[in-house]
Amino acid sequence: MNTTQRGTGHRVVILGGGYTGMLTAIRLAHRTRRAGVQITLVNPSPRFIERLRLHQVAAGHPLTEHRIPDLLAGTGVAFVQGRATALDPERRVVVLDEEADRLEYDTLVYALGSATDVTRVPGADLHAFTLDGPRSAGFTARVREVAADRGTIAVCGGGLTAVEAAAEIAEAHPGARVTLISRGEPGAMMGAKAQAYMRNALDRLGVTVRTGAGVAKVLPDAVELDDGRTVASDACLWTTGVTVPELAAQAGIAVDEHGLIQVDATLRSVSHPDVHAVGDAAAARMAWGPIHGTCQSGLPTAQYTADAIARLLRGRSVKPFRFGYVHQPVSLGRRDAVIQFTRADDTPRRAYLKGRAAVLYKETISGSPLKLYRYSKRMNVSATLSRGGRATRTPAA
Ligand SMILES: Cc1cc2nc3c(=O)[nH]c(=O)nc-3n(C[C@H](O)[C@H](O)[C@H](O)COP(=O)(O)OP(=O)(O)OC[C@H]3O[C@@H](n4cnc5c(N)ncnc54)[C@H](O)[C@@H]3O)c2cc1C
Repeated sequence: MNTTQRGTGHRVVILGGGYTGMLTAIRLAHRTRRAGVQITLVNPSPRFIERLRLHQVAAGHPLTEHRIPDLLAGTGVAFVQGRATALDPERRVVVLDEEADRLEYDTLVYALGSATDVTRVPGADLHAFTLDGPRSAGFTARVREVAADRGTIAVCGGGLTAVEAAAEIAEAHPGARVTLISRGEPGAMMGAKAQAYMRNALDRLGVTVRTGAGVAKVLPDAVELDDGRTVASDACLWTTGVTVPELAAQAGIAVDEHGLIQVDATLRSVSHPDVHAVGDAAAARMAWGPIHGTCQSGLPTAQYTADAIARLLRGRSVKPFRFGYVHQPVSLGRRDAVIQFTRADDTPRRAYLKGRAAVLYKETISGSPLKLYRYSKRMNVSATLSRGGRATRTPAA
């Protein structure tokens, strides 16, 4: 047993100190402050990573350093720096760092998130950078070198992360040639007007958009497309597809075909109800369909789970989790952005925001998790206002 766990209270272990693990820990501590609950949060690094801003880092804009122990200060949550390497859900034990340490739990919150998947296309794991994880190391410096040599940076993917990264790099490094490679139209999930605005912004920033073919192979100095064409690439950024840690599946916890924990309507594992899954690691379904991994949906799952655990500990019942999307915010460099407003199922509404107002909106969204942590230490922040998402009237199927 880890030294942080001495005591007799109910032990809650939270795996992962990303957006959702942090919120679950802070909010649960506030909700149970007089109940003697021991909360331990585990994360490999003491640094809190603002994933929503990683495209800014790629372009060379350094971020404020946030330390997890500082963010948890005053909450009573114990921080353990370590990597969960195995789980024994029958004995309720988490193994850290290949047996270097162990944590026992009564309730487990699984908040291990996701990472960019570089295994789907040959060469991506060898020659492409990512914005998150180990393959992000050195990308910012490489972008600077390539820009200085007037070389090409290939950004692979047509999602919002790809658009944000391409725009940010092109704006910060006008010397670089930035090529965005996407099988379909970039930002295809947005409405036609927001999409056109985005495309104009990419043109204005000098980003070459190549559509119509996907990436078949990443080479050291080029990207091969599946229609036979080749795009030169002095640095390749891979942004598409995600993968989740295999810990849950290896432990025999029921997962879906992507490795996400299968949860019931209250976000508890269908095979191990003392395991709650939040954020990108949970296969949560609403009546309108599956929730896809975003911070917008992840924070409400964390907020809900903290409240649900607090209620369960008091012997109270828990209502099903409900969530609906509100927006798709996309920055287009530091001075432009576009926000597509959406229906609950994330399909676009007519309304969208662009330009300066959208920049302010996007900045508010990107900074909101840290504000939410600060407020959640002291008060019961309203779910709808704080999380960017909203409750829907239709409960989970
Ligand atoms: C570049 C980029 C841009 C994005 N932009 C947006 C956006 O604009 N809007 C939006 O809504 N979403 C965005 N997302 C998605 C959003 O970041 C994720 O949905 C969100 O981070 C999920 O939160 P999480 O807590 O589930 O996972 P994470 O934030 O990934 O946190 C998981 C944590 O678990 C830790 N961990 C992993 N393995 C272990 C282990 N074995 N043991 C212990 N700890 C472990 C990790 O180190 C990490 O700290 C973006 C993602 C990326 C990568």
